[in-house]
Amino acid sequence: MRAAVDSVKTAPAVTSDGQSIEILANVGSADDAARARDNGAEGVGLLRTEFLYLGLKDMPDEEKQAQSLAAILANLGAGPVVIRTPDIGADKPLAFMPTAFEHNPFLGVRGLRLSLRHPDFFASNLRAILRAGVERDVWIMFPMVTAPDEMRQARAFAEAAHRDLEKAGVDHRWPVKLGMMVEVPAAAMMIERFAGLADFLSIGTNDLTQYLLAAERGNGDLDALQDAAHPAVLRAIHEICGKAGEAGCHVSVCGDGASDPLVSALMIGAGVRSLSVRPNQLALIKAQVRAVSIEALRALTRDAMRCDSAAEAREIAKKELGSLSSPG
Ligand code: PEP
Ligand code: MG
Repeated sequence: MRAAVDSVKTAPAVTSDGQSIEILANVGSADDAARARDNGAEGVGLLRTEFLYLGLKDMPDEEKQAQSLAAILANLGAGPVVIRTPDIGADKPLAFMPTAFEHNPFLGVRGLRLSLRHPDFFASNLRAILRAGVERDVWIMFPMVTAPDEMRQARAFAEAAHRDLEKAGVDHRWPVKLGMMVEVPAAAMMIERFAGLADFLSIGTNDLTQYLLAAERGNGDLDALQDAAHPAVLRAIHEICGKAGEAGCHVSVCGDGASDPLVSALMIGAGVRSLSVRPNQLALIKAQVRAVSIEALRALTRDAMRCDSAAEAREIAKKELGSLSSPG
């Protein structure tokens, strides 16, 4: 019985018409990493590193950062691991790096914007990642990238981190893929400008949704708008996948919407072939992929993109998916 359950977890997710969908996990701790491994993740599509810093009074040194990351990596199974540099600022302020008062922190100095303003801190993050990942297929991802030049600067920082470690004779992973979150509308609308600079893209639908719909995430009064099933978000995903595909750039989705079977179905219909989900949703998302065809999901998402609201898109997806997965 146990073997049967395990094979369902570990078997690849392939649609009924033969399209493989990569199913990765989002992790933020050593416990998450163990859960991802035990639930059959094919790798990690988003390792949030904020946990290393939030709640600390003092900045951890490079050694401490590398050790904390290594503890997470040690619990993971095989497969690539996308480690995101700290997405700090906005809803995740740092005690040891206070920022100036901002009226709209979500539109403020956060993510890569903050890292680029603190070069020593950023350099230590990158060296720690390269050191911790010495034996793994580690990819590095930058959050909140808005302008191509930010991606160029981030690449230069990663290359410098490699050179520093090499000069000091410290074992580390290199080369690594360097990619970016697509979560700012400007980046989503200029994908072809980033596709040559980033080795891979990951769509962050939590932030992309809040910015597209001008609806602050976590504001309970705006739940109906903070929904990745919204036609505007689906259209953005469709556009990003199309342009990334033309440029031959790998694209995944790591926003929470990917963990919702209904929304992940719409994302696949929009062209997504790689999803990164919460560890406890891995088996469910894989099972759903096996129950549907790409052809049917394409048609479903085409209809959803013509809806007026997320609620309407969800309604038609619920009906369609119910009939797709019911026997006969
Ligand atoms: C996102 O914005 O979708 C995302 C995955 O990043 P975070 O939730 O950490 O901002
Ligand atoms: Mg985000």
